Amino acid sequence: MSYVITPPEQPSVAVEGTEDRFPVRRIYCVGRNYADHAREMGHDPDREDPFFFQKPADALLPSGEDFPYPSQTENVHHEIELVVALKSGGNDIPEDKALDYVYGYAVGNDLTRRDLQQAAKKVGRPWGTGKAFDKSAPISPIVPADKIGHPNTGRIWLSINGETKQDSDLDHLIWNIPETISYLSGLFTLVPGDLIYTGTPAGVGPVVRGDRVEGGVEGVGELVTKVV
Ligand code: MN
Repeated sequence: MSYVITPPEQPSVAVEGTEDRFPVRRIYCVGRNYADHAREMGHDPDREDPFFFQKPADALLPSGEDFPYPSQTENVHHEIELVVALKSGGNDIPEDKALDYVYGYAVGNDLTRRDLQQAAKKVGRPWGTGKAFDKSAPISPIVPADKIGHPNTGRIWLSINGETKQDSDLDHLIWNIPETISYLSGLFTLVPGDLIYTGTPAGVGPVVRGDRVEGGVEGVGELVTKVV
């Protein structure tokens, strides 16, 4: 057997402090998972069921690499997020076992063409063009959970050109990590290599060409992206 075209490259993320790579299958993202962000987007922050969308795995952008301002938009927003990397998978994973499925954690930015997302929302169309575009998923190296444990508190922040824009704490997540993994595994068969972007706190806003975007999660790492 041979492929009729050259197979695409396997997307992957660096593992902090090693030459090893974490191979990525899917990128799941949680919508509105911090009450203050739900409120700023005009939604009721009551604990409705979590909802999910996806980005393609090849939308990953390593920390330190430039983000080329994308086409067809005039309003790209930053969304700093804790990212969970899964080492095992399955369906209907119980909450009290969910952390056993986690390989490690990273810092991600769920970059969003907000104008296209808002236009799609208004007419009930899917979010793909707003969320799942090329290089829309900057990510820091992954740190293994056996080094740092499983963070459930800690500062999550983002600054642009040194000015703080987002500043919150992981303990403000509406759906915590075990609950998110458990719920998601009821919708999809999770597989080793899946990433979950777990949602962003308040303070989202635009980036423009020339911006240096820095963000981090306490105890996990930092992510730097320059917009060009
Ligand atoms: Mn997000």
